[in-house]
Amino acid sequence: MEQKKFKTEVSELLQLIIHSLYSHKEIFLRELVSNSSDALDKLKYLTLTDEKLKGHSFEPRIDISFTEEGETRTLTISDNGLGMSHDDLSDNLGTIASSGTKKFLASLTEEQKKDSNLIGQFGVGFYSAFMVAQKVEVVSRKAGEEQAWKWSSTGKGSYTLEESERDSAGTSITLYLNEEGNEYANRWQIEQLVKKYSDHIAYPIFLSYDQTSYDDKKKDKDGKAEKKVEHKVEQINSSSALWRRSKSELTDDQYKEFYKQSSYDSEDPLFYIHTRAEGATEYITLFYIPSKAPFDMYYADYKPGVKLYVKRVYITDDDKELLPSYLRFVRGVIDSEDLPLNVSREILQQNRVMSAIRTASVKKLLGEFQKISDQNPELYTKFIEQFNRPLKEGLYSDYANRDALLDLVRFKSSSEEGYVSLASYKERMRGEQKSIYYITGGKEATLKASPLLEAYRKKGFEVLVMSDDIDDIVVGSIGTYKEIPLKAINKSSAVDDLKEEGDKEKTKEAKSLVKKIKKALGDKVKDVVVSSRLSDSPAVVVVDENDPSVQMQQILKSMGQSDFEEVKPILEINVDDPMVKKIEAAEDKEYLEEMCSVLLDQALLAEGVMPKDPVAFAKKLHSLLSK
Ligand code: ADP
Repeated sequence: MEQKKFKTEVSELLQLIIHSLYSHKEIFLRELVSNSSDALDKLKYLTLTDEKLKGHSFEPRIDISFTEEGETRTLTISDNGLGMSHDDLSDNLGTIASSGTKKFLASLTEEQKKDSNLIGQFGVGFYSAFMVAQKVEVVSRKAGEEQAWKWSSTGKGSYTLEESERDSAGTSITLYLNEEGNEYANRWQIEQLVKKYSDHIAYPIFLSYDQTSYDDKKKDKDGKAEKKVEHKVEQINSSSALWRRSKSELTDDQYKEFYKQSSYDSEDPLFYIHTRAEGATEYITLFYIPSKAPFDMYYADYKPGVKLYVKRVYITDDDKELLPSYLRFVRGVIDSEDLPLNVSREILQQNRVMSAIRTASVKKLLGEFQKISDQNPELYTKFIEQFNRPLKEGLYSDYANRDALLDLVRFKSSSEEGYVSLASYKERMRGEQKSIYYITGGKEATLKASPLLEAYRKKGFEVLVMSDDIDDIVVGSIGTYKEIPLKAINKSSAVDDLKEEGDKEKTKEAKSLVKKIKKALGDKVKDVVVSSRLSDSPAVVVVDENDPSVQMQQILKSMGQSDFEEVKPILEINVDDPMVKKIEAAEDKEYLEEMCSVLLDQALLAEGVMPKDPVAFAKKLHSLLSK
């Protein structure tokens, strides 16, 4: 017998589960049944595709039994699925296989660790058995192998592995129930939990139990009715694929329960979309939008949550081709009648049926999102709070659906509360306004306070505040919305729209002032120009039309990209500002240099950008204030 230690993260996870999920302990049965169902899916798939297992015939099933007498009560969940080899057992049940789960655990604060909903979200799986068991034994034999193995643990730091026996492939998990778990060694409890959580598992779940009855006609010598014990095996789930039933047959609760037991999410979905397509290609889709963005959505190894079934046979759930990557938060089922059962992943990518289903599914999803946006703004806001960012990814990856996506994404605004759409911006546009204005490259609060907004505010022009870090990347690919150009107000060209009579005059008059400042700042700026859009601030920095914004340059630098050529800012000055007037009047060379330098640095600061040399800035400021 080998004794092995759990990886530290397993011990940590076990601690978490036992302490945080305590009030949800009944979910252990759902987790174990769903593991069995996965193992049945896998074996079924392999018997269709794997040469070695093609001869393996089996009737997939899950069996539950229990003992309710004696010192320790037990509960056993068995399946005739794929099973696990010696190495599978120690790899799967001694470590946490998913690196996403590891990262998630590491990222939790102490406070979050107490939030059972959060923890429920990532599916604690097999280890949840230790909430109700003092010892867990797993006897498993892998399909295609002769030897069975027994894994056993009390959940306290280590487990043992030894040779064992099993008639055929599959896995049996026996829980030696602890005090909290005793109640589950009971026929009614088990039936109720299976109905609640696992009714739509595609395979039959059988419960075996002893039924005791008393025969009044046959009395023993003390006059008591004779006791009769009958052993019964009964199917306790409906085992129908829920998505194949018609909408009118299904209740909201059934949809939600199906989601929870098939998705590892303990919360209700935000909404769901059930479609049956008939005609050229026949398929059924049932899509769910989670109420919270999956915690690992931005990790490279994120697994999308849509399962592909062909004629009710499960094929795969980790195919990134089922839906485009920007819709990776969608969960649910695609079930096709027209794909071959032994469709391989490589073929799937080029398969015409699959690509038709995919195209139609994306259209359906985006259309449904739009419908919700039109009919249920409150729900849509909840949706946007979670999924605005992935939708924006779609803007640069899914050109075919660009117009639909443009109407779905939301931005913050200089004049409106909450999120605004481009469509509503367009409606609010003033008669003389020719462009949709936006500002990027910073936190919402910094952007909203930017001096660049002054002139737009004054004119009553709304400015979109693009504070998502993805906005900077995405907005360039938008270009126009319904033929209206989008213009960044921190780029020089947006200014043209604001030009007023008299600006030319102003520029002429300030010619020598501009020259003076340019000389003082030297190569710190690309140019100095007279601003036509400032009223309360002395100056702002902008960049040329095709240059990256100063904030963008800072982001690139912080990402370690130092090899790009630094683009110097253009300083726009407000000739009516008292500080600028002082510069105009200044004669002392040192004073002039200090003033100009502070003028530039404070303009950068107002955009949330650190001056090049903060120490020098502070010194100059101090010197000026002391004069
Ligand atoms: P998850 O199901 O999220 O992967 P679990 O901790 O529940 O995580 O299970 C870990 C792994 O152990 C599974 O991915 C699977 O490979 C294996 N496993 C668990 N239960 C069974 C079972 N009944 N039959 C075969 N393999 C199983």
